[in-house]
Amino acid sequence: MEKMICQGCGAEIQTEDQSAPGYAPASALQRTEIICKRCFRLKHYNEVQDVDLTNDDFLEMLNQIGEANGIIVKIIDIFDFNGSFIQGLPRFTGNKPILLVGNKVDLLPKSVNPNKVKQWMRKSAKDQGLKVTDVHLVSAKSGEGMQDTANAMDQLRKGQDVYVVGCTNVGKSTFINHLIHSSTGEKEAITTSYFPGTTLGFIDIPLDDSSSLFDTPGIINHHQMAHYVSRNDLKQITPNKEVKPKTYQLNENQTLYIGGLARLDFEKGERHSFVCYFSNDLLIHRTKLENADELYEKQVGDMLSPPDEETRSQLPPLKAQSFYVEDGKTDIVFSGLGWITVPEGGVSITAHTPEGVRVSLRSSLI
Ligand code: GDP
Repeated sequence: MEKMICQGCGAEIQTEDQSAPGYAPASALQRTEIICKRCFRLKHYNEVQDVDLTNDDFLEMLNQIGEANGIIVKIIDIFDFNGSFIQGLPRFTGNKPILLVGNKVDLLPKSVNPNKVKQWMRKSAKDQGLKVTDVHLVSAKSGEGMQDTANAMDQLRKGQDVYVVGCTNVGKSTFINHLIHSSTGEKEAITTSYFPGTTLGFIDIPLDDSSSLFDTPGIINHHQMAHYVSRNDLKQITPNKEVKPKTYQLNENQTLYIGGLARLDFEKGERHSFVCYFSNDLLIHRTKLENADELYEKQVGDMLSPPDEETRSQLPPLKAQSFYVEDGKTDIVFSGLGWITVPEGGVSITAHTPEGVRVSLRSSLI
């Protein structure tokens, strides 16, 4: 095939990989002006879409943002803070104001205190080297919190540009599409800006005569649980409505399996109720610690599912990490899955997750 370039973003046109830059269906190659599917959606539907990015493109993109003037809006998925955090970002942000937006707030049980979520987001960002100016919670899907966030963005930017960054799957496209459709601005004016050196353009959404909001390509974090599981399993582990807490009374030396994707051993402490916050479709199974390994060997993929067969062929083995919960109500967070609340301290636990998927502790959100 002769080399063709997308007239919108400058990516080389290809017809093989739908999620890679420059994808266009074969039928589109007949047209005189060839644009990729991403630019087509943008031009005709004012919709932004995500594509995969190589590491070089990613670094180049951060460089471009680092050199530009403006503010950064960083979107994370509150069910997957660690998995959806862009590791390299703090090195490039300089003194730019950063608005941290936690998306998918509609999934949190109503009993969760939003201020505690924001405090935890701010602290987790700081622990990873990112000092944020402001923190907001939204549901890009339902629109909750979107107007407040748009107002905060406007105040903070003081007439400058806005760069929206985020990993794939955090809801960045949904967030931006919501902003586009709720603004009364001239929709036709949305274009892609081709930044030299990158395969991909930033999508340029004018905010006023002299400034724009830029949608940057979504970044893939390879240690995200989402990348290890099949499409079917991803559907099962991703909550799609408000999470219903499930409570288990545990004595020491008992284990909880979260499907067959993660496990929590309660090794030492008084009898306690452990409260689980995961997708309502994800089955939890209690067993004795001494039987836990054998159960996994026999039942993974059956009673302990997901993982399905496809996931099992690519999932790294479970790796154990031990913690001592000193005091206070504490959440044990399984990145990309959910969390388990331990009601008080004096508890020794071991968490098992596929190697690379992070487990962390935080002061309880409830
Ligand atoms: P992107 O890869 O960051 O652009 O993410 P998308 O906008 O494509 O969204 C990823 C997935 O998250 C989709 O299945 C969306 O429907 C879902 N999603 C996005 N925003 C929300 C939200 O506020 N709440 C919930 N429950 N799901 C959301």
